[in-house]
Amino acid sequence: MDNSTSPSAGMHILLNGRRIDARAARERPMEFRVDLAAVRATHGHALCECSAPSLKLVIRQLERGPILAAWPTTAALHHPLCPFFHELEAYSPTPAGIAETPEGRAVAPTRLPPWELLHLLWSRSALNQWRLGWTRDWSRARGWLLATAKHVSVEGASLDSMLYIPPRFSRPRRREIDAQWQAFMAHIGTRQGYVLGIARGVTRMPWGWRAHLRHHSAGFDIADDLAASLASSSRRGWSQLVGEKQDPDLRVIVLAGVNSTQEGGIIVREAALMLVSHDLVPVAGRWEATAVQMAIESGRDFTRPLGFAQEQVDLPALVLKDTVPQCEIYVRKPGTNPTVHSRRLSDWEHGAHFRAAAVHVWDAGSHPRGPALPPGPARGESQSR
Ligand SMILES: [Zn+2]
Repeated sequence: MDNSTSPSAGMHILLNGRRIDARAARERPMEFRVDLAAVRATHGHALCECSAPSLKLVIRQLERGPILAAWPTTAALHHPLCPFFHELEAYSPTPAGIAETPEGRAVAPTRLPPWELLHLLWSRSALNQWRLGWTRDWSRARGWLLATAKHVSVEGASLDSMLYIPPRFSRPRRREIDAQWQAFMAHIGTRQGYVLGIARGVTRMPWGWRAHLRHHSAGFDIADDLAASLASSSRRGWSQLVGEKQDPDLRVIVLAGVNSTQEGGIIVREAALMLVSHDLVPVAGRWEATAVQMAIESGRDFTRPLGFAQEQVDLPALVLKDTVPQCEIYVRKPGTNPTVHSRRLSDWEHGAHFRAAAVHVWDAGSHPRGPALPPGPARGESQSR
């Protein structure tokens, strides 16, 4: 694309005293390798002038050449049309308890609330995103999550060393699966560990609850006080599990901090439950799941924002990435009071304006089958005009 028609025309970076088109610097850093190397040796960083004050840019020296990137945790501070603005950060900011190294490693010096850890894993594994042509099943999602866990440190240890995600059960691989589980059990005999999976259900026991995961036979014990806390902090997920409001289109993801007991059982110390759609995209409930399903069936590209908090009322159900500008889809649930709705709408529009996005509201009461999504690109044709 010619830079004169690029939406980022006019955005510049400052490199070794020269002002350079920001998009050119981001997309073709090899052309600026001499200046990049000089600045890296003297100042250590370049400056992006899209905002005032200017924002630092990291210069990384890779084997194939230099690259320029937003300074860790500042990507959302760039102008939304700047090529260093990172949409993922705008919708899924890095939690306050996490530092990020220039190499992209997420470091939590202290224990993270399980909600934050779950959202971090999901967003960095791109499981809150969808692109035309993608397919997703548990095996693929598990692979992505384990790869992400290698780049996350919690309390000085790599997360992958203390995380167990049950693989899809297969009889030929049974010995291997058993061996991995036994190794994890040995680990949690003395240290903390995490289990992540799709909930199969919970059963009432005399002392509390026992939870089971898909593809995994051992149960996980939940004391009554933790169950009560989950029923309020992970309300939608818990009610889906205990059968008060079960919906066949929803699944519940569990991230549990666990310890083993003297008797060889496993006790859940802390946990977060997250509702997801059939394709493992996080959702707040059945209406969002309907919108997500419709977007997937229509071949759309989208991101489901994650707030790293339990309630996400101000975030869109999804953000279409294949419209210009990108379009935030919100759900007006049936029965919403008009005054409440107009106040929410004004909040949504305010937030979308800040992110340079359009707003589309799906009135689920009058169109229960799904939203009429704003048209996307004509696939197979050039998107430029
Ligand atoms: Zn910028």
